[in-house]
Amino acid sequence: MDMPAQKKKLGLRERYAYMTRHLGWETTYQPMDKVFPYAEYEGIKIHDWDKWEDPFRLTMDAYWKYQAEKERKLYAIIDAYNQNNGHLNVTDAKYINSIKLFLNGISPLEYMAHRGFAHIGRQFPGEAARVACLMQSLDEIRHAQTQIHSLSNFNKHYNGFHDFTKMIQRVWYMSVPRSFFDDAVSAGPFEFIVSIGFSFEYVLTNLLFVPFVSGAAYNGDMGTMTFGFSAQSDEARHMTLGLEAIKFMLEQDPANVPIVQRWIDKWTWRGYRLLTLVGMMMDYMLPKRVMSWKEAWEIYFEENGGALFKDLARYGIRPPKYLEQIEFDKDHISHQAWATFYQYSALSNFHTWMPTDDEMDWLSSKYPNSFDKYYRPRFEFWRKEAEQGNRFFNKTIPMLCQTCQIPMVFTEPGDPTKTCYRESDYKGSKYHFCSDGCKDIFDHEPEKYIQAWLPAHQIYQGNCFGEGADPTSKDFNPMASVLDYWGVQNGHDNGDFEGSDDQKNFNAWRGMATNNS
Ligand code: FE
Ligand code: ZN
Repeated sequence: MDMPAQKKKLGLRERYAYMTRHLGWETTYQPMDKVFPYAEYEGIKIHDWDKWEDPFRLTMDAYWKYQAEKERKLYAIIDAYNQNNGHLNVTDAKYINSIKLFLNGISPLEYMAHRGFAHIGRQFPGEAARVACLMQSLDEIRHAQTQIHSLSNFNKHYNGFHDFTKMIQRVWYMSVPRSFFDDAVSAGPFEFIVSIGFSFEYVLTNLLFVPFVSGAAYNGDMGTMTFGFSAQSDEARHMTLGLEAIKFMLEQDPANVPIVQRWIDKWTWRGYRLLTLVGMMMDYMLPKRVMSWKEAWEIYFEENGGALFKDLARYGIRPPKYLEQIEFDKDHISHQAWATFYQYSALSNFHTWMPTDDEMDWLSSKYPNSFDKYYRPRFEFWRKEAEQGNRFFNKTIPMLCQTCQIPMVFTEPGDPTKTCYRESDYKGSKYHFCSDGCKDIFDHEPEKYIQAWLPAHQIYQGNCFGEGADPTSKDFNPMASVLDYWGVQNGHDNGDFEGSDDQKNFNAWRGMATNNS
């Protein structure tokens, strides 16, 4: 009897197909559209989920092997860094303030990305897309956990790290990153994958994990460098997933084009607004700077993004709206943001300072069109005031943009001397915006954004006082009570870097490591 010819070993592509898209079936107890209720309500039309192409074609087996290897390396370095007091090797304790922003403002978003991808993995009817979302969901919880592990080492030694789970929900500026994700996770599955896969990964984390993390390495922070580069190796997969999702929607039906275009416009703008924080971290918070925020934006968004939009042009997609404004604003936003945090430093969980002469010269050289003209005089004035005992603190609560929730500190496109305000009327109320971009986003979905939990409004309504506070008592101090509610330890976490616990401790500990005194 003849033996049947051995079938040759399956290729990567075939094996991947058997391990992913052939796993699903048509449901019978309930119709498919009831089982996948979110698949159609955004108006996206998909005719053939089998056309989904996953460029990585990973099976779970391969996925666990790769990720386990990364985790082993990462934790070996983190452990060594922590045991050797690696935190004392950073350039200066000022640097650590940028990491406070990272742990408080960004790591919780990784966790929400995990939840979001688990959710859309459940909601997409196509198996290949579901498997890719499952892997990204796992990546994201890994990112949250590795960041918490790396950064918790700083919590043993420095202020401002102790309450990040509370702070993300309460502290005023945290509502900026949080509202970005609230917006994304309360959207449909297709918008979510554009918001995170394209805006968060492609626009935002690309700038965070490459240039900012290079800055961390340059400032001697091996712990942050290690998790940053470990996460970045997942980001490559995430960006590709986001782009595949966009191309898939565009190829499936021409009616999807205008919907996707609107999401690209919206989420580029929201991602850009959120990046203001990263811009400030790069330009002001790193004692040793690798490149300016503006240079990073030009390389990682304008050049790389430009190539992407050329590629998408054949589907009828044009570059995002407001690019002319961004082009103008990139000379300004990091300075405007630092000026804001300096004025409101009493209300933050990290310290601020005015740049030194050398730092101002660096900023002049990187921002020849704007720094000396608009920002240096203000910063020199504040520095002089502080030296004379008149440190300037802003004691009013600023109006916030209803969409991005950033205080109204940005300026008119084309005129950096004039604050930009926009407003819309909706159902008898007035809503305020920092820009045309944020106003357009609101006007398209007002019912969504009128629900925003705006810290400034909440404080004025009396919803942000510490436990047991009695606002009617004679010696009631509203600001101290709000700090208490936020979990910010007044006099320790906030205020000037000069004279802070962090500054004193760092210098004393570093002194112990380098001399006998
Ligand atoms: Fe991530
Ligand atoms: Zn805004």
